[in-house]
Amino acid sequence: MNKETAIRVRIAPSPTGNLHVGTARAALYNELFAKHKNGSFIIRIEDTDKARSTPEYEQAILDGLRWLGISWSEGPDIGGEYAPYRQSERAGEHAKAVQQLLDAGKAYRCTCPPKEMTGGEVSVHACDCDNKGNTTGVIRLKVTPELISFTDIIRGEIKVHTNSFGGDFVIARDISDPLFHLAVVCDDEAMKISHVIRGEDHLHNTIKHILLQRALGYTQPMYAHLPLLLDEQRKKLSKRSGETNILAFRDMGFLPQAMLNYLALLGWNNGDDREYYTHKELASAFTLDRVQKSGAIFSLGKLSAMNKKYLSELSDADLLAWGLYHYNKKNILVNSETRLLYALKTELGRFASYDIEGIDLCEAMNWHDTGWMPELDTQKIVWKKSTPEATKDILKKLIAVLETIPDDSFTKPFLEENIMNWIDANAMGRGDTLWPMRYSLTGREQSPGPFEIASVIGKEDTLHRLTFAHGIL
Ligand code: GLU
Repeated sequence: MNKETAIRVRIAPSPTGNLHVGTARAALYNELFAKHKNGSFIIRIEDTDKARSTPEYEQAILDGLRWLGISWSEGPDIGGEYAPYRQSERAGEHAKAVQQLLDAGKAYRCTCPPKEMTGGEVSVHACDCDNKGNTTGVIRLKVTPELISFTDIIRGEIKVHTNSFGGDFVIARDISDPLFHLAVVCDDEAMKISHVIRGEDHLHNTIKHILLQRALGYTQPMYAHLPLLLDEQRKKLSKRSGETNILAFRDMGFLPQAMLNYLALLGWNNGDDREYYTHKELASAFTLDRVQKSGAIFSLGKLSAMNKKYLSELSDADLLAWGLYHYNKKNILVNSETRLLYALKTELGRFASYDIEGIDLCEAMNWHDTGWMPELDTQKIVWKKSTPEATKDILKKLIAVLETIPDDSFTKPFLEENIMNWIDANAMGRGDTLWPMRYSLTGREQSPGPFEIASVIGKEDTLHRLTFAHGIL
């Protein structure tokens, strides 16, 4: 494939916030499309909004993409043949384009008061500034009333009348102060972008971009507008819907492979109901013609279910690394990695992620820690209809039985078999015994079973905690 026909796609995020779920999905689709077609995926930072753009947000966007495992072949961090990859550093090119349009009489300086200018979205801008030879004022592109059409890869033929967006539109506040439309069109041309794959919210901008491309004699890229992301109330996904920052999902305990897999399905499927894909499988399966037109609903429940499956498939080393990341993040010292790993394994069936809907896994799992003692509520030690006296007596007997079990037999199957037999043989009521045992070991009403816990914390801590509970009843 020669350079002219090479597949080159990009995202152009504005560094005015963290990496949003929608931008991450657009980045992924661009990356998958490029990989599938052996093309290049480029990151270009659109920092023309100088007041709101920050280097920290740029960093956060790149960090979020890297965390997801998305890779690019050109960008502000790695450079490339078409550098620079920050719009602010390409101002000279933009100014040349504006000048070219002014010189060709395709754009003009307009000194109409701002009110009239901003009204442009609803009524067609009509003024005689074009004939006045102004040397100040904003720069507008001359637009003739006509029906413009283009073929969107996802949506088919799109037709828009230029009157619908107000006719002559502003492309720059001044020669050296271009607006988004002009900058994006110039940069796409300079970087030989073949396909623009971006959110549906840009559909109305595309007509303006096509008009600019025509006026400047540029090549028109192919367009594909991705479906909107909706929340579960079918409203546009926004901060009000819940978390939208990709790196916040990392800190909630979502795995990047689960997040990436889930993002891929937000508007795309392979024509069947398959849900689980590796990154590599996605790249080989992904095509734009399988992207849906209708909005895609972002469901935390579905993402959590996916995360649960990915968590359950982690190797011990990766699961431990995941647990340690969250403990370190909270500055909680882990005194036994082996116990943390076992505890993670026993808890995984209950947790879909690390911190979701207010459940903090580090806190819920502090029972695994060597020497840790629960805060117990004496009323809660007692199971349903049992009494404190009876419970105290049961704990005493349980301690005596556990004392006879050797350290190395503190495994879940051994404890389960022996303690259950003992309970049944003495007709002691399972709940009356197992509830105080579990609660005394964890201080929690919800936790893994008592035998799992005892097997993770071992004989010494088990007896210590049970003796403590017995003592306060
Ligand atoms: N800066 C725009 C955005 O973040 C991207 C525009 C484009 O992709 O052309 O939505």
